[in-house]
Amino acid sequence: MTVKYNLEQIQKEISERSQKAKRSTQPNVIAVTKYVTIDRAKEAYAAGIRHFGENRVEGFLEKKAALPDDAIMHFIGPLQSRKVKEVVREIDYYHALDRLKIAKEIDKRADHQVKCFVQVNISGESTKHGLELTEVKSFIQSLADYSNIKVVGLMTMAPYTEDEIYIKQIFEKLKKKRDEIQSLNLKHAPCSELSMGMSNDYLLAIEEGASYVRIGTKLVGDKE
Ligand SMILES: *Cc1c(COP(=O)(O)O)cnc(C)c1O
Repeated sequence: MTVKYNLEQIQKEISERSQKAKRSTQPNVIAVTKYVTIDRAKEAYAAGIRHFGENRVEGFLEKKAALPDDAIMHFIGPLQSRKVKEVVREIDYYHALDRLKIAKEIDKRADHQVKCFVQVNISGESTKHGLELTEVKSFIQSLADYSNIKVVGLMTMAPYTEDEIYIKQIFEKLKKKRDEIQSLNLKHAPCSELSMGMSNDYLLAIEEGASYVRIGTKLVGDKE
């Protein structure tokens, strides 16, 4: 399928679900291009996509170099401390902040304010990165002195399961935590956004208030 076709289907579903959930604004769709070629990423750009997500340094830099300048680049995976300097200048949004050490390194190496999502591991699966819900507030408070970091919101990955009620509970917990942090009115952490929802569960995430969905397989495809 062409990206254009997939995007049209996805956007139709998103519109319907947004209306049903009485949401006034629609989420931003990030095309996760980590499985696909540069040509496929360019095809996505031509189809109108402007948000791109990658989870590894090499792939991220490759896509960034190949796409036009107005592509908005999201780094969606964990970063190693020693790799930060290689990519941080090209990152518009970082979705996986969960360690002070990395925050410190981003702050030191960046030449602009990096918009960050703090990653939360709500299900407690040990294979997933991210903070526990109870750690989020103090972690975000401890970021106040890093002037190159702006906490725009929270991010999570739901477990891979058919249990929609369980998935929705996870997204709802993230939203509640977002509301709590937002109400603190921290200058460095407006925390108004929610990055949640992937190919398998983005419609559920939208019902629960996602403002960024990260879609790979269903939009641009998986390993070719
Ligand atoms: C790979 C990835 C996605 C996209 O996954 P799909 O299931 O292919 O849509 C979203 N978010 C993160 C953090 C990822 O690593």
